[in-house]
Amino acid sequence: MTSFPIYLDNHSTTPMDPRVFEVMRPYFLEDFGNPSSKDHAFGWKAAESVSHARLKLARSLGAHESEIYFSSGATESNNTAIKGAAHLFKVKGNHIITSVIEHKSVLDACAHLAKQGFEISYIKVNSDGLVDLKDIERAITPSTILLSFMLANNEIGTVNPVKEIGLLAKKNGIIFHCDAVQGFGRLPLSVNDFHVDLLSLSGHKIYGPKGVGALFMKRSAGICIEPLIHGGGQENGMRSGTLNVPGIVGFAEASALIVDELESESIRIASLRDLLLHELQKGIPQLLVNGSLMHRVPGNLNLSFLDIDPEHLMLSLCQEVALSAGSACSSSCQKPSHVLAALNQPVNKVHSNLRFGIGRFNSEKEIMHTARLVIESVNRLDRDRKKVLFHR
Ligand code: PMP
Repeated sequence: MTSFPIYLDNHSTTPMDPRVFEVMRPYFLEDFGNPSSKDHAFGWKAAESVSHARLKLARSLGAHESEIYFSSGATESNNTAIKGAAHLFKVKGNHIITSVIEHKSVLDACAHLAKQGFEISYIKVNSDGLVDLKDIERAITPSTILLSFMLANNEIGTVNPVKEIGLLAKKNGIIFHCDAVQGFGRLPLSVNDFHVDLLSLSGHKIYGPKGVGALFMKRSAGICIEPLIHGGGQENGMRSGTLNVPGIVGFAEASALIVDELESESIRIASLRDLLLHELQKGIPQLLVNGSLMHRVPGNLNLSFLDIDPEHLMLSLCQEVALSAGSACSSSCQKPSHVLAALNQPVNKVHSNLRFGIGRFNSEKEIMHTARLVIESVNRLDRDRKKVLFHR
């Protein structure tokens, strides 16, 4: 039986896997100790569990456990990485390169640095949502100190050539930060293959808990960045504050599970995505795919429906299916998505955008049901629109 609403917003957050919850449960109850308590068994147990978790997460990235710093999530990791690296290397230069379609936690951290005198170059994407390596290369100057590029985009799912960007950074002696939140567990990821110095992750995007994330910081890069949060000196002084033990244990378990199941799940989820697109294309003639289909994470589909009012479409779907709407521009648009705007969508036309985020717990039945609902709604709204035009 399909339960409603069908959850298809897995880029926004993922439901927690019950296997992850079971591993976390004791840390809310009997194993509640503070890992910083050095004088009793409750503290020792908590400290030991955190070190196991650190090792587990490190292994799923091909990193060493001493390179993992737990945080409250990727927003914090991105801020720590970007602001920290900028201030550490400001003696060398003040130039940072990123892309126009990064997450707000990267863009806003860069905007903050710009107010402090750093110069930021924003690399544009092509109509497929992809950055061109040559544009990054051309933007590099002798004062460039940091490149920050995401692995996969959270709206259109497009995948950056991260290995090549990493190599470019290495060749030019520039620090490379990657926001890997939406790509981790969806694409093979190894910090060494990617040549990253700093990498951000989040627990709640991989069927783990919210409020926990991590920053990978490469040991051999000689980076020792300024922390954002000062206090008790936890996480080797990088991130003070009592550790979120249940969250950390759950996050590490979630990372091991998603990496173990990556191959089979990528195939299954990509085939659900292709099925959804195929069904929708059969039923809706005026449909546009946003972003490259080839260079894309398996569970993402971002579509535009021309001439369909976004508010009406969302209203007719939201009781039965949980999706994210992004409005590039319409008569009723609030704020256009900076990602869709970067693709040069038609700005003078009313159209609806829907982001489908397919994940671990979605079934073929749910996909078929969603396709039927969307086709019905889009075609009904289109008929209504034509009726209004006819009676004018
Ligand atoms: N980066 C990307 C690409 C994201 O999708 C998100 C979450 N929407 C974040 C960073 C922020 O993650 P968190 O919720 O853990 O702060």
